[in-house]
Amino acid sequence: MSLLGEYDPDNIFAKITRGDLPAARIFEDHDTLAFMDAFPQSRGHALVIHKRAHARNLLEIEPEPLQALILSVQRVTRAMVAALKPDGVVVTQFNGRPAGQTVFHLHFHVVPRWEGVPLGRHAGGGAADPAELAELARQIAAEIS
Ligand code: AMP
Repeated sequence: MSLLGEYDPDNIFAKITRGDLPAARIFEDHDTLAFMDAFPQSRGHALVIHKRAHARNLLEIEPEPLQALILSVQRVTRAMVAALKPDGVVVTQFNGRPAGQTVFHLHFHVVPRWEGVPLGRHAGGGAADPAELAELARQIAAEIS
């Protein structure tokens, strides 16, 4: 049961929120956190989460934290477009293992796309260079408004 189930407070993203695991952080406010995907599907692939909502997926989050989360998704998407100048951006969110979800803490993917550059594999590609992720995070963060 990956669509329905108990929220695990020790999931990877909860650990990142607490600072127990490293991440290339882009942006943080009282409610939300954005950081670089460690196994990106494209250069600049970012993730946005709510820091306190114990929601595994979109079905479980309350309206108020969802509002904060989706506003941060838009903020990060705008900053990413300003910083990296992609030709397009995909915003995705998976619910349940058969749908592609691998980390069970609600998150939105913000994936920049360039003409002619194929999308990498979801959650199955290689790990990115941490220094490169830190530099991308810095560039996107510089455009957060
Ligand atoms: P999903 O499959 O939609 O649950 O997405 C989970 C995402 O988390 C995937 O795109 C993974 O590449 C990414 N990911 C897994 N572990 C980490 C990590 N330690 N830091 C950053 N991103 C991660």
